Amino acid sequence: MIKTPKLLMIPGPTPVVRSIQVQMARETVAFGDKDFIEDLKGLIAELKGMWRCNGECFVVAGSGTLAMEMAISNITQQGDNVLVCSQGFFGDRYIDIIQRKKLNTDTLKIKWGSAPTPELVDAELSKKKYNVVTMTHVETATGAAAPIKEICAMLKSKHPDVMVIVDGVAATGGVEAYIDWGIDVLFTGSQKCFGVSPGLALLWASERAVQKRKSLPAIPESYVDFEKWIPVMNDPAKYWGTPPINLIWALKESLRIIKEEGITERYDRHARQGALIDAAMESIGFANAAEKNFRAPTLSVYFYPEGSNIDDANFRNVLAEEGVQSAGCLGEYAGKAFRLGHMGNIDKHTLVSVVASIERASIRCGHKIELGKALGILQGGLV
Ligand code: PMP
Repeated sequence: MIKTPKLLMIPGPTPVVRSIQVQMARETVAFGDKDFIEDLKGLIAELKGMWRCNGECFVVAGSGTLAMEMAISNITQQGDNVLVCSQGFFGDRYIDIIQRKKLNTDTLKIKWGSAPTPELVDAELSKKKYNVVTMTHVETATGAAAPIKEICAMLKSKHPDVMVIVDGVAATGGVEAYIDWGIDVLFTGSQKCFGVSPGLALLWASERAVQKRKSLPAIPESYVDFEKWIPVMNDPAKYWGTPPINLIWALKESLRIIKEEGITERYDRHARQGALIDAAMESIGFANAAEKNFRAPTLSVYFYPEGSNIDDANFRNVLAEEGVQSAGCLGEYAGKAFRLGHMGNIDKHTLVSVVASIERASIRCGHKIELGKALGILQGGLV
């Protein structure tokens, strides 16, 4: 039989559509090329506008973890108190990054599958004076989304001096968040909701964050220093580190696709498709690990059906043979569930193939389901 191509349904990298691939395959030009300079300038201006950013936007070579470091490095100094709100693996990653910088760290640990609420964050911040709070918009290990808008509103009224960092790596571009909600630094990586290959870190910094950096003495880091990048982002004819030219073109094409779809429709589509996949999966016995109020539109973690005796590694191998690359789970969910990304440029064909492949893999792994049941639910929501 002809080999089935694998759909990339892990929680990032996500599928890269043809027109974005084409940009990455273009002949590379000099970073001083005048058309490229205009491309980058236009891209930064659009990113700033669309995310309602009154400060600065940065697009630099690096992954999401670099963006985490860049965010914290530019608005803190030794001795600052930072509250990390963590609902899982990637929230926890911030603890190590922050402790290495000799900042004082406390963690608001939320149980896996749940998320911080305005009340919980308020209670924690009321215990002592904090300089910065970090939050993970969508926790990629659990598929739980934090109510960022509500938390930001609470922070604005009750803790206006605390600066706010939001890790939007598994959310930004698929789930709404704007700098003018009161976020000081928001960041993501190109490989998630933007549907570009890995390699770009995107950050938005509020005017307050930019001023904060200016007020600090030289920070220990060099590559991620806002002060080094601001001149380049305002005038890409200037040089700091070589820009990843082809990825920047790819991001420009991604933004064109986002605008063509409409950013609001894009958020709505992610919400619709997340809910639909959920309904389809639950109909064949897979339970979403995230609490109902906190389910992310961008990725889901599904526990194997009780009594099905599905072996995790075997299921994911069979699913890959059936045409879908999924991801194993981390930490306390490892072996009990699998992760399915559904963010970025995901069309109806992809959704149908994903659910159909999961049905075939379930049957092949001995989980007795009625073929077409989950698919029927999905299809019902797609017409
Ligand atoms: N934060 C979150 C929420 C993530 O999902 C990831 C990556 N999966 C990271 C940070 C780290 O990003 P990267 O792997 O691109 O360094």
